[in-house]
Amino acid sequence: MTTIDSQEPIWLAGIDNGNLLVTLRQIQTLITMYIFQKATDLTHRLHNGMPIYPGDPSPSFESYSTLEKEGVNLTKIVMGSHTGTHLDAPRHFIQDGIGIDQIPVNRLMGEAYVADLSQKPIGSGITSRDLLSVLEGNILIDDIVICYTGCSERWGDDSVNHNYTYFTEDAADYLVSKKVRAVGVDFLSVEKFNALEPIAHKILLGNGIFIIESLSSALKQFLGKRILMICMPIKLEGGDGAPARVVAIPIG
Ligand SMILES: [Zn+2]
Repeated sequence: MTTIDSQEPIWLAGIDNGNLLVTLRQIQTLITMYIFQKATDLTHRLHNGMPIYPGDPSPSFESYSTLEKEGVNLTKIVMGSHTGTHLDAPRHFIQDGIGIDQIPVNRLMGEAYVADLSQKPIGSGITSRDLLSVLEGNILIDDIVICYTGCSERWGDDSVNHNYTYFTEDAADYLVSKKVRAVGVDFLSVEKFNALEPIAHKILLGNGIFIIESLSSALKQFLGKRILMICMPIKLEGGDGAPARVVAIPIG
């Protein structure tokens, strides 16, 4: 089965006694109803002692001034650029890759398909075969692909931080072949823990595919569904990554 190019113009005949050149994506937008009232937050809270990728800087959120003492509440924040729910920019592993501030905002909102990969044992590698079975026929070119592994149900469980479900090299190659826009996962990384070579990151980011990591288990309600996803990372100049607020909007 081939993947339909949603951006490729096609002719619609017989409209208004003529022909109309439109893309499948434009048709999809016209007939799609986004249910903004049911927008769902897929973001983890940032707080002291929160789960982090082992070895990353420990985040700290301290009161810098208070209403009682200084007349204003203000917090001092110290954290790594990949803390909590976040977006990886190509610069994370590609030397001349674009930074987080150079990603056009229209690339950060779009339709996503939420695939259920929770049948994979936690700690195992997702292969191209696994992806083919859940994605084929369900995704369009330029879609965002979100993979629910079930690891997010164990957020805060230290043993999973060193042994979460990840993407193999051929899974990353498959996603490149499908020309997806971005890939999201519900745990700390798309990469096998402590991998000698960050191959999944390099393949995805090297092909301009953004990576969204540490989505929350709120994803579970959207398994097998399409959603509108909005992922807005903070605008860190030249940033290799940045914490983001990620929201799912159901499609009616
Ligand atoms: Zn990251």
